[in-house]
Amino acid sequence: LDESNRAAGKAGLNAFLHINAEEALEVAAAVDKDRAAGETLPELAGVPIALKDLIVTKGQPTTAASKILEGWMSPYDGTVTQKVRAARMPILGKTNLDEFAMGSSTEHSAFGVTRNPWALDRIPGGSGGGSAVAVAAFQAPLALGTDTGGSIRQPAAVTGSVGVKPTYGGISRYGVIAMASSLDQVGPCTRTVLDAALLHEVVGGHDPKDSTSLNEPVGPLVEQARAGAAEGGLKGLRIGVIKELSGEGFQAGVLSRFQESLDLLEQAGAEIVEVSLPSVKEAIGAYYLIMSSEVSSNLAKYDGVRFGLRELPKEGPMTIERVMAASRAAGFGTEAKRRIILGTYALSAGYYDAYYGSAQKVRTLIQRDYAKAFETCDVLVSPTAPTTAFKLGEKNESADPMAMYLGDIATVPTNLAGVPSISLPAGLADEDGLPVGIQFTAPAHEDARLYRVGAGLE
Ligand code: GLN
Repeated sequence: LDESNRAAGKAGLNAFLHINAEEALEVAAAVDKDRAAGETLPELAGVPIALKDLIVTKGQPTTAASKILEGWMSPYDGTVTQKVRAARMPILGKTNLDEFAMGSSTEHSAFGVTRNPWALDRIPGGSGGGSAVAVAAFQAPLALGTDTGGSIRQPAAVTGSVGVKPTYGGISRYGVIAMASSLDQVGPCTRTVLDAALLHEVVGGHDPKDSTSLNEPVGPLVEQARAGAAEGGLKGLRIGVIKELSGEGFQAGVLSRFQESLDLLEQAGAEIVEVSLPSVKEAIGAYYLIMSSEVSSNLAKYDGVRFGLRELPKEGPMTIERVMAASRAAGFGTEAKRRIILGTYALSAGYYDAYYGSAQKVRTLIQRDYAKAFETCDVLVSPTAPTTAFKLGEKNESADPMAMYLGDIATVPTNLAGVPSISLPAGLADEDGLPVGIQFTAPAHEDARLYRVGAGLE
């Protein structure tokens, strides 16, 4: 679809940065052959998948949608890549994202925007717009994304698909380019909740190569999705509506679809109560400080020497510092530079306590708010994002970056708390006919509950 659009001079969806057709066809043919021979195969064998271009892959480029990594080929596979291969799933290619996963619109990619299939002049969400669009536009049945502050869930919400951010440590980050390591998680992007559960079981579980990986088995996610979808599957479930994330600042059409979903849950036998998490109001501030601080440290390795692009100074002495500066100036986009500068400042001596230290304290308060809410509720719920897909260009790095950041209000708190969350479709908003997402959050290690309630509502 994208290639024929491009050939015709029309804007494509631009969901993929790299298409891996030949290898994918080979894997599919080998699966067909073994299936015909009567071999027992893994459950998702032969089901194609797209990978966000932040996940490293041997034999295919990995760019993080940044010029600084253009031309770089990873010498190894990430753990999730290995698991997908072991499950014999053909890898269709690598999907577009905001540079180094920084953004909520995929407009910060160095390789062009991705468009929302529901309205081509609208953002597909971000940072994982490519993975969500590949799935929503039926270019791939399954995809993997990463979520540091909502990059799987918000694209799912605005494209009418399903996205899951697991419990921190639930899916290995080995071989996933780091944005903010204490927040980053890999997760499924799919069209149904059951598909997400199936994929989560393939890629999840303990990995000794990731020191933050949880030492516990993944699941039983598929079983819980099936139980939730069965008659009476939601009976007795106590669902807390997060007061701070379901009123002021949210689009009317988002709130009416949200309310309808709550009514459906109630009819299915769930009990709906209201809960307050007062500290989530401070989540954006804490997130943008902690995330930027970690970004400034993680992105220090792109020095023009070890990976990808090397730019030489146009004049003057050819010192290592000057090669580094020239490479970073040419290789990073505006948003990446903004965050590196913000993070470096927040971590500098004299400001560390005032900024990074305070943000960490807020993070603790948010974690406590969630823990307290889970004393009385099985899961929490809110809309995934305050608005439906906004117009391309409306809030990008040159128009209004603060407005873009504020749109992350409902998704960043769960990354700060390390708890798992799912976004699934809740219908179309009356005012613009665009998809609305509803988000459920469970206590850490209880990802299975998300699949139960998600499949029950679906
Ligand atoms: N939109 C958020 C940001 O810009 C989240 C990004 C992400 O989850 N990778 O930082």
